[in-house]
Amino acid sequence: MKAEIIAVGSELLTPTRVDTNSLFLTEQLNRLGIEVVRKLVIGDLRSQIRDAFREALDRVELVISIGGLGPTEDDLTRETVADLLGRKLIQSDAILRGIQARFRRLGRAMPEANLRQAMVPEGATVLENSRGTAPGLWLETNGHTVILLPGPPHELRTIFTQQVEPKLARRTSGVRLFGRELRVAGMAESDVDQRIAPIYTRYTDVRTTLLASPGEIQIHLRLWSADEAASETLLNEMVERITMALGENVFTTEGESLEQVVAHELTLNDATIAVAESCTGGLLAERLTSIPGSSTYFLGGVVCYSNNLKSAWVDVPADLIEAKGAVSVEVARALAEGIRRRSGATLGLGVTGIAGPGGGSTEKPVGTVHLALAEASGCKERSLRFPGDRERIRWQASQSALDMVRRYFLYTSQSKPQSKG
Ligand code: AMP
Ligand code: MG
Repeated sequence: MKAEIIAVGSELLTPTRVDTNSLFLTEQLNRLGIEVVRKLVIGDLRSQIRDAFREALDRVELVISIGGLGPTEDDLTRETVADLLGRKLIQSDAILRGIQARFRRLGRAMPEANLRQAMVPEGATVLENSRGTAPGLWLETNGHTVILLPGPPHELRTIFTQQVEPKLARRTSGVRLFGRELRVAGMAESDVDQRIAPIYTRYTDVRTTLLASPGEIQIHLRLWSADEAASETLLNEMVERITMALGENVFTTEGESLEQVVAHELTLNDATIAVAESCTGGLLAERLTSIPGSSTYFLGGVVCYSNNLKSAWVDVPADLIEAKGAVSVEVARALAEGIRRRSGATLGLGVTGIAGPGGGSTEKPVGTVHLALAEASGCKERSLRFPGDRERIRWQASQSALDMVRRYFLYTSQSKPQSKG
């Protein structure tokens, strides 16, 4: 079954509000084997609502709308859809009593305007709303299903879960969505695509999407099927081939974040880490501690922005900073070694760079970042130049630093003996 979602609300066309409800709906529908093929965001205007529903009903079996069921003048979905489908609006005494009771519980008189929420298009099924005043509505028309849901996210979720999902589940044919998500660090999107296009183009039933964000490429594989075993086998085979083509640049085949993967490696290897950050300003510490249980591997970190504190806190020699500059391989190395020594961690990570927009020079342009990872037997460095604005540069620096830690474990990781019992 295919569905379209129509989000109604002029506020969703401003720079301050975004339609988040459709993400929830899409996830739930996909689980039921219903594919969302189009989403539309429209203003609170009769003509737009009318056109949107008419066109959607020409294309798909299921149309779900969000919003415009409130009590105010700009809430037009109910009236407009009833009119489009040629249904009269009839007052429901049951709904009215429910709304009145709700206001009574709040100790307030029901405003006249809320009467509109008790109006039901002829033949519609009412989807009770235990979290608010506007009920949802379910209409059947010429083999199509139209579901109108209120905009407030907690109301929409409750109605969907309690009433829409069970009704839709009875209809779907057993086709479900199967998927995988691989993530890649240290490669450009075009390089990734060049290497894997010859693979994924041969799997015509699987929809492959590449999503690029700073320092990370995600590869999403999606397959609609009624055959679970065959789907899993096919996806596993694809994942294996893609991983072979991209090698150790793939850091997960299960959609994990880089910090999750790093956390896993540190834990598995009984290793600890401490960080000395300059240009990332605490971002590394933040990412490493965003994982529950991070206290088992993260000892701590310092943000040593000034030259003085680089020396005072992690013993970077002042004459080294003088000679090489604060943004240099040598200082990155001194940061990593210094924090490792001071903290007693297995690994020390140092970052220094120029996030911009000011402070660049011809020898050291904005985006220059030096990373170092110190461990018992030595120290590795990486020097990089990132494009983009301050935020992107800082993010990519943290991403590359975490990736250094991950790659370190590729060669040193202890696979632990299986615990007994
Ligand atoms: P409405 O049912 O149109 O009166 O919407 C009530 C409130 O729900 C709006 O003011 C928004 O805050 C929220 N809302 C409406 N549509 C959406 C949507 N598509 N995604 C997230 N929030 C929404
Ligand atoms: Mg609205």
